[in-house]
Amino acid sequence: MASTYDAVVVGAGHNGLVAAVMLARAGWKVVVVEANARPGGALMSAEVTRPGYVHDLFATNLNLFLASRFYAEFGDDLARHGLRLRRSDLPYANVFPGGRSVGVSVGLESTLERLRRLDPGDAQGWQRLHELYERVSSTLFGVYASPISSYGLTKAMVTAARTLGRKGLADLAQLVSSSCRELVDAYLVSAEAKALVACWGLHLDFGPDVSGGAVFPFLEAFSDMQVGMSVAEGGASCLVDALCGLLREHGGELRTGVAVERILVTGGRAIGVELADGQHLQAARAVVANVSPTALVGNLLAPGDLPEGISRALERYAYGPATMMVHLALSKPVPWDAGDELQRFAYVHVAPYVDDLAQTYADALAGRLPAEPLLVVGQTSSVDATRAPADGQVLWVQVRTLPTRILTDPAGSLAGRSWDEAAEPFADRVMAKLERYASGLGAAVLDRAVLSPADLERQNRNLVGGDSIAGSMHLRQTFGFRPAAGMARYRTPVGGLVLVGAGTWPGPGLNAQSGYLAARDLLSRARWHDRFRQGQHRWQSRRAW
Ligand SMILES: Cc1cc2nc3c(=O)[nH]c(=O)nc-3n(C[C@H](O)[C@H](O)[C@H](O)COP(=O)(O)OP(=O)(O)OC[C@H]3O[C@@H](n4cnc5c(N)ncnc54)[C@H](O)[C@@H]3O)c2cc1C
Repeated sequence: MASTYDAVVVGAGHNGLVAAVMLARAGWKVVVVEANARPGGALMSAEVTRPGYVHDLFATNLNLFLASRFYAEFGDDLARHGLRLRRSDLPYANVFPGGRSVGVSVGLESTLERLRRLDPGDAQGWQRLHELYERVSSTLFGVYASPISSYGLTKAMVTAARTLGRKGLADLAQLVSSSCRELVDAYLVSAEAKALVACWGLHLDFGPDVSGGAVFPFLEAFSDMQVGMSVAEGGASCLVDALCGLLREHGGELRTGVAVERILVTGGRAIGVELADGQHLQAARAVVANVSPTALVGNLLAPGDLPEGISRALERYAYGPATMMVHLALSKPVPWDAGDELQRFAYVHVAPYVDDLAQTYADALAGRLPAEPLLVVGQTSSVDATRAPADGQVLWVQVRTLPTRILTDPAGSLAGRSWDEAAEPFADRVMAKLERYASGLGAAVLDRAVLSPADLERQNRNLVGGDSIAGSMHLRQTFGFRPAAGMARYRTPVGGLVLVGAGTWPGPGLNAQSGYLAARDLLSRARWHDRFRQGQHRWQSRRAW
């Protein structure tokens, strides 16, 4: 016999869990079904190198989560369920050839001081950029935290027009449409200061010359300067455990190690799911799918469940370049040529310059293995010393941006054309690059674990092709177009079926937004529905009387 719930959540990514917590707290009977043995999706930690060394396998920086409306509401509950945070006041830095570096610290003055050492013009440009941030960031964050609706956007624009004035609105429009290179060229002087901002673009899939690519690096560069960078004490899974603890506290259920094979639709309404083991779970009110848009249309729904136009749009949903992770257990902090102060920064970008980023991005799109991949070096132990024994360190190295399919290796040393073959040799290239900026690092490596783009997809089917952001964030696929026009507000044309996760507005990152907004929408519709039913009932009893 099928078990019956109010809501079945497909996938225990953080958005699925967030939605489940909110529905369960409102009294719904909720179950979350996760294909993996462990919940969390791209938020997970494990001892993958050696015992006692806890690595955040995928996401590590919790800033987006901590700025979310969900955290504002449930932060104390998560703390009750064991979430502790560790914060660095030195969020990010870049290294350059010749033992040079520049970093951003919490506080404008200390950051300006570092930039002045590069070029007084950089400090002036940074200050002007900061003024722009102060003027427009509340509008941009306001849009980011709202559902995409014509009412919401009109309200945001009217408020922006009132607070920013005509000149401010023009600046905002120019910022939103700029590429990152256009932004940094307009404000900054040295190649180093420009790279400091532009590296953030590649955290999404914004090569320096992609229109619309300025906003994310701009916001990240300055919000980190305000709040530093935070990780979960003891590992990213501590946040997942806290979410699951909260879910259970509200009576929710979590089933792991079993995939949902089909979403069952009858009469245009989602009525439940079929699991890989053949079991059916009925959903009286909603199915919340924390899945990729292409899996929704290609695997989980039957042909004809969605209108043809929407199906076609979802099938065309595009993924960005791939990502690879290299996790290192070290016997000592990274011996940066630029000096020991650099060991205290949460992230160090190794690019080095904007032109290198442009080349890497073009290589990735064309199927070429980049000679100079962008490395995001997360010095996790410097933020959270609990991650390794006293005499050890864990290092999180994200390699961005890589080809999904390898066609050539212009550097000529790698023969493998599948990621399973190329992963380890390419990780050697990564290590060689790091060694050029940190002589002697190799000797400090105790163990390493490599997760190739293929591994990322194997571990989380939403990371199609190893795309860490689960779908390009270019303008044609964001705002009202994520995942497709007509579906940006989480509802789908199938009654009771909502889609959440990185493939929906506002996109990837631990922002918890889609889970939060979709659950709120479900709850408010249910309230209207219940009121309507009560009214109908009262009307009928009066007539009967
Ligand atoms: C390497 C890497 C580094 C990152 N670094 C950061 C960072 O530092 N900070 C940051 O903010 N963001 C970062 N991100 C992005 C961020 O982690 C993701 O955007 C975010 O976790 C996506 O959350 P989600 O809710 O969409 O679910 P996901 O994390 O994608 O999880 C979805 C879950 O659903 C499950 N699932 C899918 N289909 C089914 C099915 N049919 N049946 C059952 N279960 C199913 C999957 O197994 C998975 O567990 C990073 C991502 C990666 C990959």
